[in-house]
Amino acid sequence: MTNPKQLSDYLAQGDQRSLARCITLVENGSKEAFDLLSIVQPNPNIPVIGITGPPGAGKSTLVNSIIYHLSQSKPNIRIAVLAVDPTSPFTSGSLLGDRLRMTGHFNNPNVFIRSLATRGHLGGLSGRTLEVVDLLKSAPYDIIFVETVGVGQSEVEIAALADLTVVVLVPEAGDEIQTIKSGIMEIADLFVINKSDRDGADTLVANLKQTLSEKMGAGSVDIPVLKTSAQEGKGIIELSNHLFTHHNSSPIKRKRMLINKGIRIAQDLLMRRMDQDDFSNKLELESQKPGFNIYKFVEGYFRP
Ligand code: GDP
Repeated sequence: MTNPKQLSDYLAQGDQRSLARCITLVENGSKEAFDLLSIVQPNPNIPVIGITGPPGAGKSTLVNSIIYHLSQSKPNIRIAVLAVDPTSPFTSGSLLGDRLRMTGHFNNPNVFIRSLATRGHLGGLSGRTLEVVDLLKSAPYDIIFVETVGVGQSEVEIAALADLTVVVLVPEAGDEIQTIKSGIMEIADLFVINKSDRDGADTLVANLKQTLSEKMGAGSVDIPVLKTSAQEGKGIIELSNHLFTHHNSSPIKRKRMLINKGIRIAQDLLMRRMDQDDFSNKLELESQKPGFNIYKFVEGYFRP
């Protein structure tokens, strides 16, 4: 197998095959993956754009249209897309899923699209998304999209990872706007009303703006609402321009993201160091004893 230094060098040269190998290593969570991640050099200035919203809102179609527009308007731009979709039957990194999503771009060597497995990670976003984004930032891509379905935890996680989080809604969501979870309001840096070729888009934009101003209160930063029709290619230029000009996170947000990331990596490392067989055996044994208390057990297990 190629050693981590070599792999990291190939990665820095933008070699897609090496990138694919690195992602597989990282997804498998092996020791080599940690060695690799310890020497790669992610460029911290590469924008990470989170795209979230309900299934069927048109997230993939939108990302495809943005890629198309950016590839036309900025020759040689390198774009990466990570699709993390727990509801998608294609998410297990399957070739079919990637090939479907690649439609239109598979001839472009500057576009990298990959589905990530969500295996074993509660909440939706893959347990390895953070690390894979670091690989992409080392590859190095000019812009990285992380697309995920807005269910439960995943949109909150994406906000911890993305410099700019886009929440995609469709005109039919109009009736539910009052009940849209405040969580979504808090994570959105930008709302996109896609499928605006359908009735109700303008009403939704107006209602959303109204709800936002009520919820966010006076003096807070306005969250922009853009209308698109990914299918008809409308609003894509405005959206793409917005992504490029508004992705700079505030220093406070950057600090929070850094700390969250550090904690996540620490949790991962501690779990890796823990001998799970030994833990399970002792837990089972102790649980048979009278007066067993699992909190006491866990605390005692880790006491030096
Ligand atoms: P995702 O689950 O959010 O990624 O949604 P998809 O991108 O797979 O799109 C779901 C469906 O909506 C597909 O049949 C698309 O062709 C369709 N779609 C996407 N964008 C638009 C749009 O702007 N207008 C209309 N009418 N349909 C769209």
